[in-house]
Amino acid sequence: MSRAQTTLRTTVSIEGVGLHSGHPVRATFRPAPPETGLLFVRMDHKETPIPALLPSASTFDYATTLSADGVSIGTVEHLLSAAAGEGLDNCVVEIEGPEVPILDGSALPFVRLFHAAGFERQDAPVRPLSLGREILFERGDRSIRYSPGGEGLTITYEIDFPHPLVGKQKLTWAVRPEEYAAQIAPARTFGFLAEVEALRARGLARGGSLQNAVVLDDQGILSGPLRFRDEFVRHKVLDLLGDLSLLGRPLRGRIHARKAGHAMHVEFARALSAALAAPAAEQGEPDSAARRQGARP
Ligand SMILES: [Zn+2]
Repeated sequence: MSRAQTTLRTTVSIEGVGLHSGHPVRATFRPAPPETGLLFVRMDHKETPIPALLPSASTFDYATTLSADGVSIGTVEHLLSAAAGEGLDNCVVEIEGPEVPILDGSALPFVRLFHAAGFERQDAPVRPLSLGREILFERGDRSIRYSPGGEGLTITYEIDFPHPLVGKQKLTWAVRPEEYAAQIAPARTFGFLAEVEALRARGLARGGSLQNAVVLDDQGILSGPLRFRDEFVRHKVLDLLGDLSLLGRPLRGRIHARKAGHAMHVEFARALSAALAAPAAEQGEPDSAARRQGARP
């Protein structure tokens, strides 16, 4: 009961500032044939397309970057989440600069753009990945666990920030393209004023503003009302979905993350990818689908 691979019906583009450079940048999304995946092309390095796959990824605590042969594109995570959340499998993304525009700090502007283009079902099925056994990844009190089961992917995320407006938040969300736009995509990235100032001191976050993040100081929120009472944990689900999409195919099973971030998401995805590539006997219970599919390099 797998769905068909999906691309966009027409080419669409969007413009905004880069989070770190502060410069205007345009992103153009073009339809692509089945099995293309998401492929980034930097217009000043057209000869080096960058696939949105784990081997291209490098991360920082606050962002995910993709590179190939020394060419890199930064701040890809919300765009990747929008594509994964909406079930957009194949697309060429042309970027006129070194980073994806930050827009409003959420995935919603990308989702609106995809809806404006329309989706085209393609003559090839999606082949989801699944593993027959549990994988637990721990770093102190931070963890991510995969367990098998279910028809799709269900994400549970827990955060605990020592701030009166954040605190402990927990959300379980079964990934459904028809709900992503309303439930997850609008949740904005967030940061603490002190962190933003530290990034600025390093020449980063020049395009960061109260218009593209929820910014908190010790007392409260500087950037206006929240979009959800639990916007913070919803954004963590958004980020995790984008980072997991670097597996190259949709994942089936259950993920439970506690106090993780981009670097840990991607490390976990690498561990999962290695387990998927292992011989079937090491993957736990017999799983003919996983055996047949293996994992992408
Ligand atoms: Zn984010």
